[in-house]
Amino acid sequence: MEKEAIKFLKECETKSFDRKHRINIKYNISRYNASVARGLQQFKDLYQATVKAALIKHKTLENLDSYLMSFEKNFTKNGGTVIWASDGKDALTAIGKILNSNNVNLVVKSKSMTTEEISVVPYLEANGIEAIETDLGEYIVQISGDKPYHIVTPAMHLSAEEIAKIYHEKFGLAPDSKPGEITSFTRTKLRKNFLQAGACITGANFLVAETGSVVLTENEGNGVMSISWAPVHIVVAGIEKLIPGIEDLNLFLPLLASRGTGQNLTTYNSIISGPGGDSQASDFSPGNMYVILLDNGRTNLLRNIPQRRALSCIRCGACLNACPVYRNIGGHSYGAVYSGPIGAVITPHLKNFKEYKHLSYASSLCGKCSEVCPVRINLHRLLLHNRNYAVKNYCTARLEKILIIAWKKAMLNRKFIDKPPHSIKKFFVNKITGKMWGKRRIAPAMESESFSVLWKKRKLSKK
Ligand code: SF4
Repeated sequence: MEKEAIKFLKECETKSFDRKHRINIKYNISRYNASVARGLQQFKDLYQATVKAALIKHKTLENLDSYLMSFEKNFTKNGGTVIWASDGKDALTAIGKILNSNNVNLVVKSKSMTTEEISVVPYLEANGIEAIETDLGEYIVQISGDKPYHIVTPAMHLSAEEIAKIYHEKFGLAPDSKPGEITSFTRTKLRKNFLQAGACITGANFLVAETGSVVLTENEGNGVMSISWAPVHIVVAGIEKLIPGIEDLNLFLPLLASRGTGQNLTTYNSIISGPGGDSQASDFSPGNMYVILLDNGRTNLLRNIPQRRALSCIRCGACLNACPVYRNIGGHSYGAVYSGPIGAVITPHLKNFKEYKHLSYASSLCGKCSEVCPVRINLHRLLLHNRNYAVKNYCTARLEKILIIAWKKAMLNRKFIDKPPHSIKKFFVNKITGKMWGKRRIAPAMESESFSVLWKKRKLSKK
């Protein structure tokens, strides 16, 4: 078994039986479900809306090269700079160069999974640049030395009491501080950072090819604050973030908001089509703007025809909340930035397929993830495609292969199955299933006689 798979199983074991963790997740997801039910009511025909969104994303992915070129052309025309990064190292080097040439020693960051993916904050810290997360959830995770738990709500695993305890230990706030007091304290603290920062780093929810625009959607206003004050704005965006035209936002923004948080529309939606042109302090738009278009394994995924559909993902997080596996093991167990069903599909392609293929097996294949996806990604089928890919590419453990071949041979041979002694067969089956069943469950006991013997006995008894 690969190292990552062993770690994953260990984490799952711990998290699944952590009662406090289960209570926090259950509570937060039940609140999410109630909001989403309300948010979805805005659609007259939700099915048609999702089909349309899926088709637009499909068209974009099938012609990604030309949409990327249009974005570059239009964004450059608007005065911005596009940087192509084939991996995290390229992107980090580019960020380092931009910050150095602008003498930046403080960066404000808004929530972005892409920057998590390439570990921007550790890189900046290692290079003597302070980086402050400004999204409240990310900020909590940062000050507690934790990792984001969920792609939309990074601190979802923590209760209000646990957050109050973190603020008490870090900043001396009362241990029973209320959420309002904590947010107010954070707002005041971050305000200084917004004013002092030499640059801001954000992700992008969408990139519009037609206009060369970066679209940011958020609820706290920290993204707007960042881009309004920092003289330099660096956007790190995956190449799959493209949508063809500005009018497509009419569909994607409500879909993302309703499935992401149950809102009709996210509170702040910014469309930034280039720098403001003032290289000094900004007048509500940065003087210099860079978009780093990141590949980092995405073209590997694009190469796999069925699985490439996963690049349509708009990161709403709905599939995570719907997944019975995620709800039990939580976001950290996946050992990757992208967790839940979407993470299980894309992580093996973005990282090392052999090391992370086990994630595609962590699913009951119930299909709930595909059902809730606003861009109709058939996630549970893609998990099966990944499993198939794993087997075909000899990523399966040798012992597992041998066992499957032996099992198949035995199952196709009636005489062998019926041959006594049954006790030996029972011993082997119990040995194998007993281990896989886990230490907290007892494997179903095998009958003491074979099926054919039991069947014959039953027939005789009926005569
Ligand atoms: S795969 Fe679909 S449901 Fe899951 S995060 Fe992406 S868009 Fe949302």
